[in-house]
Amino acid sequence: MPELAEVAYYTTRWAAGVGQEVLRMHTGPKARPFRQTAAGAFRALVGTIYSGARTHGKNMLFEFAPQLWLTGHLGMTGELLAGPPEHEPTAHDHLVLYTRESALIFRDFRMFGVLRLEEWAGGPPPDWLALPPQIQDAGFTTARVAEALQRHARSPLKALLLDQHWFPGIGNWMADEVCYQLRLNPAVPAGTVEAAALRRVLRAVCRKSMETIGRDWSDPPRSWLMPHRWKAGGVCPAKSCGTALMRETLRGRTACWCPLCQPVA
Ligand SMILES: [Zn+2]
Repeated sequence: MPELAEVAYYTTRWAAGVGQEVLRMHTGPKARPFRQTAAGAFRALVGTIYSGARTHGKNMLFEFAPQLWLTGHLGMTGELLAGPPEHEPTAHDHLVLYTRESALIFRDFRMFGVLRLEEWAGGPPPDWLALPPQIQDAGFTTARVAEALQRHARSPLKALLLDQHWFPGIGNWMADEVCYQLRLNPAVPAGTVEAAALRRVLRAVCRKSMETIGRDWSDPPRSWLMPHRWKAGGVCPAKSCGTALMRETLRGRTACWCPLCQPVA
């Protein structure tokens, strides 16, 4: 499932169309990706100029001048691609916007992703501006982290980290990474976690992820849990540890941690 930096990376693929007019469009026959805006409404994008994208956590915003906005998220398996202007849509291409030089493609196999169209003059729509502070933002203060930890004091740390209201963009692997770097078991009660330390690690993990995966899909540091977590037989990368990582799959999500560095309290 795409998290903060993966979503940011996917939006960069549509840079191929920035500054170009949308000449025609294609929408696929499946209704699910259009559950918030009917597929036919996307015809309004024809004749607009694609001006660029921004992300907020897992949310995406695309500007089409003069005043149309495409917003949404990638769900589980959504992906953005750019193809040649003669691109033939596949069965999973739910929206394709054609410019003179490229095809901007929204592809989603399982269709948990969603796209909606909003019309708003003079800047991003109000619901976008009302999103909570991102982890990278100045508004993401220690006080805010402390409030989250206090309000959900008995919640397991990992479960709280997945709450998009408090921690926009954090998904399964990033939550595990943060727990690992804090040397805390994912199951520790949130109320026992130190807010300043959590904030520091969250910001460091987000920053580095954006500089690697988010920029060009390059790998985060080998000292992270992330490169070692995916396959059975992975070992903890911490110096003089090398313990076999624990992996547990619950509702399709694999949790991963080092039993030595992150003992159950
Ligand atoms: Zn370890």
